[in-house]
Amino acid sequence: MNRHYILARRPLGLPGTHDVVFREEPVPEAGPQQVVIRNLYMSLDPAIRGWMSDEPNYIEPIPVGGKVWATTIGRVVQSNSEDFAIGDIALGMNAWEDYSCVPAEQATKLDDTMGLPLTHFLGVLGPTGLTSYFGLLDVGRPRAGETLLVSGAAGAVGSVVGQIGKIKGCRVVGMAGSDEKCRWLLADCGFDAVINYRTCGDLETAIREQCPTGVDIYWENVGGETLDAVLMNLAEHARIVFCGWISTYNDEQKRPGPKNLWQLLARSARMEGFVIKSYVDRFPEGIAALGQWMGEGKIVHREHVVDGLENALDAFHMLFDGRNDGKLVVRIAEDE
Ligand code: NDP
Repeated sequence: MNRHYILARRPLGLPGTHDVVFREEPVPEAGPQQVVIRNLYMSLDPAIRGWMSDEPNYIEPIPVGGKVWATTIGRVVQSNSEDFAIGDIALGMNAWEDYSCVPAEQATKLDDTMGLPLTHFLGVLGPTGLTSYFGLLDVGRPRAGETLLVSGAAGAVGSVVGQIGKIKGCRVVGMAGSDEKCRWLLADCGFDAVINYRTCGDLETAIREQCPTGVDIYWENVGGETLDAVLMNLAEHARIVFCGWISTYNDEQKRPGPKNLWQLLARSARMEGFVIKSYVDRFPEGIAALGQWMGEGKIVHREHVVDGLENALDAFHMLFDGRNDGKLVVRIAEDE
């Protein structure tokens, strides 16, 4: 059987078992030019919460009654395409399910995984690492000596952003939600300073203490009160790289906008959003650079692997309460 999840209704707040429903169906058969992929791992990303809502977004929402989407990686078990043989590794935007039946042209074949764990292609060498790479270098444009402040710093995107910032000569300050995450950022990722935003007291003051010359680049993963606290600490001509607003994704009602946006004018600063899918054509460049830095020991990363498709919804909640340590993936099956 093909176990899978459907979006039964649009969630209000954190998605629950009545919103995201676990079901079974027969394993699909590949049609003309299609492949069936036995999914081994799937990536859980905060963005999936946005796709469950019907607000205007950078892609159409998941239809109610449709399968919940995720990037997965697995092995081809049926193929009606000359481009894929049985056993090939295929990666693509599929669904929370055991087997995905997709047009071959929608799947990416990984000819050479260089012996690396497949999970790396969902994280540091996949969408999250590439988000860090293109967002920081293209939108943030770091210069040596600048102060880079990163929110969500111990996560998949944030931890790599900070390390690329170090490679580019920045002074890097990270904000994260536990002492253990902060310790990892200092000891293993080479951050210069950290703030545990849960225990630091007034966040605006804590940022001022750790960024005494002001924030030249702010990597925005979080939004809400965090953004307001950072806005009061901007340096002249600061750049805010608007990557995500995870603190708002489960809001049942829209909260008032940022209070301190005037600081963009006061500091001649700018805030620019971006979406990683705009950079698909340049992925090989990003993967090559990230791979090289990993090989040189300049980028470390963590993966948080949860076993079992049946645990996917609880695992998804980890992103929003901070239980994940690094890139969150679900192991759906063993690679045999
Ligand atoms: P992470 O691995 O960073 O996991 C999410 C983390 O966010 C949690 O562990 C938690 O860490 C933190 N968090 C959750 N809720 C809050 C909150 N209310 N306040 C502060 N921190 C919170 O996830 P990703 O690295 O995959 O994603 C990080 C951000 O990047 C998200 O906003 C996501 O939407 C965005 N993104 C954007 C992309 C783009 O193309 N623009 C592409 C990919 C991701 P802690 O314990 O520190 O609180």
